[in-house]
Parts: sequence; structure tokens; C-alpha cells
Amino acid sequence: MTTAHDDARALYTELTGRRPDGVWSAPGRVNLIGEHTDYNDGFVLPFAIPQRTFAAVGRRDDDRGRVRVSSRFASDPVEVGLDELDRLFPTAPGASPAVPEWAAYPLGVAWALRQAAPGDGPFRGVDIAIASDVPVGAGLSSSAAIEGATASALDELWGTGLDGRALARIGRRAENEAVGAPTGIMDQMASMLGAPDTALFLDCRSLETELVPLGIAEAGLAILVIDTRVKHAHSTGGYRDRRASCERGAAALGVPALRDVSVADLPRAREQLDEETFRRVRHVVTENQRVVDTVHTLRTDGARAIGDLLIASHASMRDDFEISTPELDTAVDTALAAGALGSRMTGGGFGGAAIALIEKDAVETVSAAVNAAFVAARFAGPHLFTVTPSAGPHRDA
Ligand code: ADP
Ligand code: MG
Repeated sequence: MTTAHDDARALYTELTGRRPDGVWSAPGRVNLIGEHTDYNDGFVLPFAIPQRTFAAVGRRDDDRGRVRVSSRFASDPVEVGLDELDRLFPTAPGASPAVPEWAAYPLGVAWALRQAAPGDGPFRGVDIAIASDVPVGAGLSSSAAIEGATASALDELWGTGLDGRALARIGRRAENEAVGAPTGIMDQMASMLGAPDTALFLDCRSLETELVPLGIAEAGLAILVIDTRVKHAHSTGGYRDRRASCERGAAALGVPALRDVSVADLPRAREQLDEETFRRVRHVVTENQRVVDTVHTLRTDGARAIGDLLIASHASMRDDFEISTPELDTAVDTALAAGALGSRMTGGGFGGAAIALIEKDAVETVSAAVNAAFVAARFAGPHLFTVTPSAGPHRDA
């Protein structure tokens, strides 16, 4: 039992003076490969990590139909009526949510869940206390973890009975329409459907999934996360801009989504697109192919053989999609120079974390090299830890 689990419970008791009905949790995720492909209807290959977000939740006895959320993240709880949710959300495009942003994640989940299963029957007032050991804004999807924990709790307490996929869609809807962050479905699916020792091969168009054995430990390897501690934000700036480029590219090429463009189509695309849009498109198209190649390579040759695909993925994000940062490039270059088989930034970019696929007994040498490089470059100290592919949501108590 982790500290965050106990912390969520303690916070619930501080808030209500009672014990929660249960504590539900959902994991963050690392994306092994497939970046900015999800909203282009493409392929991704994430896995759930051991770090989780916990929601201690209980029905309210006053039955006034109110939802109160509280988090260590904020000093004050936020409370709204269930019937107010439809007035608060959706948030207008480009606007800030009508509640503090952090609260728009759990309240947005409550809103989306009610909309998916309309009627008055099962919906009762609840108190929700949240604590997390997923680093926030690090590209490890603390957002999907908070959505997954809340969605799992409310689904059970309200008896809506949705499966993991449907709850992933609820989480995405909360993130897109309540928070106003235009992210794809990858994070929520990874958090809801992750399983130990496997990565989730997800077709973001059909939402078909396949669990692909990773065999990292069996191969004598480890995955090191290098959190640069440079925070990113999805609801602003670069992320929106990249999405817009992809939409422009798909429209100019006359396809529904960049998923429908293959590597063989790229020479023709180069003639039809301006230089920058072409590079954005080339990243997405080649990245999709790299995901497919990674799944194939994992199956035929194992984890030891995927290093070059990770390296090519990072180069594409750095040069074509331009979403890396000096800190992420330093992390990747240093890990590779220190012997990593492969390394790449992971998550939406503009900050956050990189991953390195390394020999199990090289954790200390690679970590020391990265720390030294960050000192030399006068960057803030990175946060380094290894992750193993872990389980999806569950009820802990
Ligand atoms: P990432 O998913 O990579 O961590 P995002 O920007 O997508 O980054 O999501 C981070 C946001 O999610 C935070 O700024 C906050 O609003 C919300 N959030 C995440 N974890 C918590 C938490 N434990 N308590 C409250 N809000 C949280
Ligand atoms: Mg996120």
C-alpha cells in the first residue's frame, strides 16, 4: 500500500469526518512509442506504470445531490450540485473551466458519466478525495490517472456498469470538454486497460487493442524514466498548434486523418504541402510505421531489438515535429552515450519526461551520467526512476 493511498484516505476523513466507502486507483502511463499519432487515428504502444492516483470516495449522507472534490493539489475543496454540472460543462473552446482547472478533471468525469447514463436513479451526492504518486505535468499522464480513478469509483458507486473502454472515453471527454485539453484517447486507454508485463497496442481509429508482452525484465533490461521536471501544458500553445498542422495536412492531402497516409505517399505529400506542414506530417506518418514495426520486432526478436526504433522516434520529434526541449535532448543523448539501447522523449512534448531502454545493471551508471550532464548544462536536477509495466485500475479497499 503506497503513501498516496493512505493520503487519499486521510484527506477524505479530514474532509468528512468519516471513512470512505472505498479507495479506487488508476495508473499513469509511459508511452513506449507512438507520439502525437493518437489524434491522427493512428497507432500507439503505451504501458501502465506502478505510479497511481487514488480517489477515496464515499456517498454523502445529506443526499443533497452535491459532489465535493478535494486534493492535496489545492488548499480548498470544490463543491457543486449534480444538477449544476450540465451548466458548468462543456467548457467553451479556448476558455478556462468554470471551476479550478484541477477540479475540472474529476467533476468533468462526473458530468460525462451522467451524460453517458442519463436519468436520475443512480446518481447521488459523493465526496471525493484525491492523492497521487504520478508526477504531474511530466508526460506520465497524471491526468488520465485522476480521470481513471474517479471514473472507476463513480461507475461503481453509481452503478453505471461501464467497461474499461467506455470509462476511458468518459475520461477523454472530461479532459477534452470539461478541462479543454484537446488530447487523444491513448492515455485513458493505457490507464484503464494496462496489464502487468505488457504494452497496449492500440489502434486509435477502431479502438481495437492487443496486449503485447514486453519481456523487459526477462531480457535483462530496465526502462528508466528521466523526468526533466520541465512542466508541459496540453491545453495551450504548442500542442494545439501541432494538432492544427495535422488537420491542415490531412485536409490538403484529401484524407480523413493522417493515419490514411503511408510512408510511400510521402514524396507526393512533399509536393502538396508547405515545408513545415510536410515535416509535421512526416513525423506522424513515420511514427505510425515505427509503432507497427516495434510491435513486430517485440514479437520476433524481443525488447532488446527495439532500440533503434526508439532513437528514430526521438529524432523525428526533435527535428520534424519540433516538440522536444534542450533538457529532453540532453537526457536522450546522454543516456545513449552511456550505453542505453534506445531512448526517446515520451508524452506530448514541450517538457516532461524521456525514457531509456537500458541493461538492468546499468541503472546507476546511466542515471549518474544524466545527472552530471544536467549539472553541466545548468538544468534543474532531473527525477530518475525505473518503471515496470503494471496493472490498470482497481478498488483497493
Ligand atoms: P500529465 O497528464 O502529463 O501529468 P496534464 O497537463 O495532462 O499532465 O495533467 C496535469 C493536470 O491534471 C494538473 O495540472 C491538474 O490539473 C490535474 N491533476 C493531476 N493529478 C492531480 C491530483 N493528484 N490532484 C489534482 N489535480 C490533478
Ligand atoms: Mg495528461
